Amino acid sequence: MDFLKDRLAEQIAAGRYRQLQPLAERGAGQLDFSSNDYLALSVHPEVVAAGQDALARYGAGVGAARLMSGDLLLFHQLEEEVAQLKECPAALVFGSGYLANVGIIPALVGRGDTVLTDRLDHASIYDGCRLSGARLLRFRHNDPAHLEELLSKCQRGGGRVMVVVESLYSMDGDIAPLAELVDLKERYSCLLMVDEAHATGLFGRQGGGLVQEKGLAGRVDVVIGTFGKGLGSYGAYVAGSQILRDYLINRARSFIYSTGLPPAVIGASLAAVRLVRRDSGLRRQLAENVGFFKECLLGEGMDGAPGPSQIIPILVGDSGQALRLSDECRRSGLFVTAVRPPTVPVGSARIRLTITLHQKRPELALAAGQLVSACRKLGLRASF
Ligand code: PMP
Repeated sequence: MDFLKDRLAEQIAAGRYRQLQPLAERGAGQLDFSSNDYLALSVHPEVVAAGQDALARYGAGVGAARLMSGDLLLFHQLEEEVAQLKECPAALVFGSGYLANVGIIPALVGRGDTVLTDRLDHASIYDGCRLSGARLLRFRHNDPAHLEELLSKCQRGGGRVMVVVESLYSMDGDIAPLAELVDLKERYSCLLMVDEAHATGLFGRQGGGLVQEKGLAGRVDVVIGTFGKGLGSYGAYVAGSQILRDYLINRARSFIYSTGLPPAVIGASLAAVRLVRRDSGLRRQLAENVGFFKECLLGEGMDGAPGPSQIIPILVGDSGQALRLSDECRRSGLFVTAVRPPTVPVGSARIRLTITLHQKRPELALAAGQLVSACRKLGLRASF
């Protein structure tokens, strides 16, 4: 097993070594600016109580895949609620967002087909594409003109064509040009799949995400998202047509061959979906906090643009510098993570900050000051 040591040494040398750091060891009083629990629903009393109730009623696990004996009505209730949230005829729950992407993409495309992805799509989308055996083409980030150029070439090749994008990009916090993508999908008669992992619960009339906010519900073939971020729980869903649901139950291997999620998780997710549909105050409050934090950064003298979302990348470039900045922030009580290649393209290492409802205004103001002084101390001209 010597090769393990050699490979890790290479990773250390490249500034890419990763280590776990449990919450309890991060130091008391540290403010978490890394979490995707954007609406703080993981600790919301209604969500916690619903999880506890399902645990007490149905036990800790379902004991089998749903197609065996592991199905509960609770899963179906959650799926109906998600379908309404997404304004789609049907939805299906998956074990996680990762499992959704590696299960759904290979169920829809395979050898002889083509899948086109945005260069910044999440690793699980990339892995799903690789697993599918379809030809993979990647277009420049948020560049529909480049996508169209590639689409026009695909038409000659035969086979099915599918485009996969995120609606809100997880490491850049920017938004896909969804209306243009839907227009292209309709003109080129291909499939469109949108991953709303970071947008669900946060955007749209009832928290349905950016597809909803842009008035495009019903015009995207496959919408996926996770319960593990804005919804505060765990697991994932796909929303679309009834036939899509029926098909995936039969063909998505990560659905078929994996144990159903624990009841507590399903109960908590159901409460969270109901909550975001009902309580628009949660997203309004988050949007206000995001605006406030960015004003604080500008007030402290950092360059930046208002930006559309709760994900704020502070671009540094070099992996080592990004690590030093995150270390410096942590020393001053600000828990942020450095995001380095291969998670982001080479030369675009950054620290990624997220705004959540766990933070209050005085903490946001304090954090902005700490971040800017950490940059100054390291001689970095960072911007957001
Ligand atoms: N898609 C995107 C865009 C993501 O950011 C993530 C999580 N990092 C996933 C899918 C995977 O979701 P999960 O954490 O539920 O596996």
